[in-house]
Amino acid sequence: MELDASKLKVTLTSNPKPISKDIMFGQDTTDHMFVANYDPVNGWSVPEIKPYARLSLDPTTSCLHYATSVFEGMKAYRGPDGKPRIFRPIKNMHRLVTSAERVALPAFDPEALLKCLIRLVAIDERWIPNLPEHCIYIRPFMIGTREALGVLPSEEAMLLIVMSPAGPIFKKPSLTTTPTAPPSFHGVNLLAVTQFTRAWPGGTGAHKVAGNYAPGFQPQKTAKAAGYDQILYLLEDTTITPGKREYKVTEAGVMNFFVVLRREDGDLDLITPTLDGTILPGITRLSVLELANAHSRSPLDSVDPSTKIHSHEWTITLSDLTEWHRDGRLLEVLVVGTAIVIAPVGRIGVQRVDESVTPNGLAPMAENGAASSKEHVLVMPSYPATAGLGPVGMGLKTRLVDIQEGRLPWDDWCVVCQ
Ligand SMILES: *Cc1c(COP(=O)(O)O)cnc(C)c1O
Repeated sequence: MELDASKLKVTLTSNPKPISKDIMFGQDTTDHMFVANYDPVNGWSVPEIKPYARLSLDPTTSCLHYATSVFEGMKAYRGPDGKPRIFRPIKNMHRLVTSAERVALPAFDPEALLKCLIRLVAIDERWIPNLPEHCIYIRPFMIGTREALGVLPSEEAMLLIVMSPAGPIFKKPSLTTTPTAPPSFHGVNLLAVTQFTRAWPGGTGAHKVAGNYAPGFQPQKTAKAAGYDQILYLLEDTTITPGKREYKVTEAGVMNFFVVLRREDGDLDLITPTLDGTILPGITRLSVLELANAHSRSPLDSVDPSTKIHSHEWTITLSDLTEWHRDGRLLEVLVVGTAIVIAPVGRIGVQRVDESVTPNGLAPMAENGAASSKEHVLVMPSYPATAGLGPVGMGLKTRLVDIQEGRLPWDDWCVVCQ
C-alpha cells in the first residue's frame, strides 16, 4: 500500500506533558509523534499519530549499524492570527524522499507525508512558545529496520516525525575576546582547513543522510579548540588553474555559504557555491537566492532599491575569498540554514596550505587564539549596530523571518496547519 494520509489514525495522549518555562531546544519533545512502517510485502502501513514514546529495536536493526537513516529539519512559527505555519514544507518532503533513495530506503508520496505533518503540528500547536522568534523544530526521519547483520539494503523501514519547542539560537560571546584578538561582533567564526572533507564528487553531500553528520563532529571539536565555531569545508580541485591546487569553498559546518561583493558598476554580487553534488541543496539557500532576485520588484529594507543584487551560483575558491578580502570588495559573508536562518561570519582562519602542519594536522594557534604564523585570518567587515549583519544579510533575514512568521504573505511559501 502507498502511504495514505486519508487513513491516518490519531490516538491522543490522555496524559499531556506540562510545558516548562525554560524548555530546552532539542531536548523537550511535544506530546505526539507520527509513525508509519514499510515492508516489501505490504508496503506502507496505516500512518499513525500517537503519544510520544520510546522505540523498541532489535540490536541487529540496520540503522544501528549501517546508518540507513535520513532526516529533515523544519520549523513551525505561530502567525499573527495565532495559527502555526510551516515554510515551503513540500520541499523538505521531496528532499526526504531523495535522501531515502540514496541509501536504498523506500520512497513515499511526499504530499501524503505533508498532510500527516500538518495534522501533527495542529495537534501539538500549544507547544509553540508565545514568544517572538520561537517555534517548534520538526524532525521528520526514516530509519532502516531490517533485522539482520548482513551488509545489505534495508527493505524494511520506519518513517517518523518528532517535534521539539525551540527559540532563536543565541550566541555566547566569542571565545577570543581578549584585547589582542580580532574584534568579535556576534559573527560565526570559521576555520578553513584542508585535512577534513565533508563531501566529495560521487558521495552523499547533496543528501541529508545520517552518515554525513557523525564524521563532522571531530572536526567541529577541532574548530572549537582553535577558537572557532565551525569548519569551513574545502574541496581540493586541480582543474580550476592548471598545475595549481585550488580549494573550493563548499559549506560551513552544516550551513550553506554566501558572499556579497561590491561590483565595479556599484551593484552587488551575491554568490553561493554551485550545487555540484557536494553541497546540500538548502531550502534557506534557495529562498535567499529567490528573495535577492526579487529585490528589484520588492526591495529589501536595508538595500537601496536602485542597487541591483546579481545572484550567482558559482565556484568560490579560497584564493577568491582571500583576493576579494584584500581588494576590499568582500562586503558580507553569510551562513544560512533552517536552524540559524541567516547569520554573519565574523572571521575566517585560513591554514596556510603550503606549510607543514602540526601532528594533529592543524596549524598551531597562539595562546590567545589569535593568528599564528601558519594561519592567516580574514576579518570580515564589522556591522556592530545590526548584530554583525551587513545591509544585504539584514535585508534578507528580515524579509525571510517576516515571511516565515506569517507577517508577509509571499507566494505560497507558508502552509497554515489547522
Ligand atoms: C540541512 C542542511 C543545510 C540547510 O538546509 P535548509 O534546508 O536550509 O535547512 C545546509 N547544509 C547541510 C549540510 C545541511 O545538512
